[in-house]
Amino acid sequence: MKKLEMVYEGKAKKVYRTEDEKQFVIEYKDDATAFNGLKKGSIVGKGAVNNIMSNIIFQMLEEKGVPTHFVKQLNERETVVKAVKILPLEVIIRNVAAGSFSKRYSVEEGRALAKTVLEFSYKNDDLGDPLINDDHILALELASEEQLKLVRKYAYEVNDALKEFFLERGLKLVDFKIEFGISEGEIILADEISPDTCRLWDVVTGEKMDKDRFRRDLGNVEETYQEVLGRVKK
Ligand code: UDP
Repeated sequence: MKKLEMVYEGKAKKVYRTEDEKQFVIEYKDDATAFNGLKKGSIVGKGAVNNIMSNIIFQMLEEKGVPTHFVKQLNERETVVKAVKILPLEVIIRNVAAGSFSKRYSVEEGRALAKTVLEFSYKNDDLGDPLINDDHILALELASEEQLKLVRKYAYEVNDALKEFFLERGLKLVDFKIEFGISEGEIILADEISPDTCRLWDVVTGEKMDKDRFRRDLGNVEETYQEVLGRVKK
């Protein structure tokens, strides 16, 4: 699959058109940003970790009945995916209080939540990705009622599958963000699932094994990404 011109460059990935209009090639970068681009850096090897890890997880999710954009890994950093139009929504699932949730409601990080929380943010950097609810999404026509229903259903299914998958690897799934796209009229899981997009805490030590090591300057950032990939490959 030959890469043609770049159609999009995000903070962590480049997206290329191919000879097949129904497929893109994604190239993962080592660039890291946090706090809506305020903190910038690089995590050596991150692109390869996120690419390989996402692909393993997307194939596992496909087997469990969640449709994804995954087609074929080309090499350590590049993957062929189905071309989608991304819904401008960040779908966040929380099993344990952390990050912006803890700050917003002043609850300590690590508090187990009595109910799994599904949250939407409106993907819009200029606005700082504000929280948005189902009514807002429908009012602004960001998704149809039918699409929203499917997105919610898939998000919970992804959570159930991921919680089990990570627990088997000694990692607690605290929260994560996913994105969906539309391919030939169908809602499918797109973007990535990686230490950039999940909070993962070591089950035994409680250590943070995700992008919070970069966000909060906790050290051992590169090593942690490699450790997570090693466990995911098992
Ligand atoms: N997240 C993400 N991209 C974003 C915002 C959040 O991947 O632009 C992930 C983040 O890594 C965490 C979860 O979504 O696993 C919830 O993040 P939160 O809302 O707590 O925001 P943060 O603390 O990262 O600002």
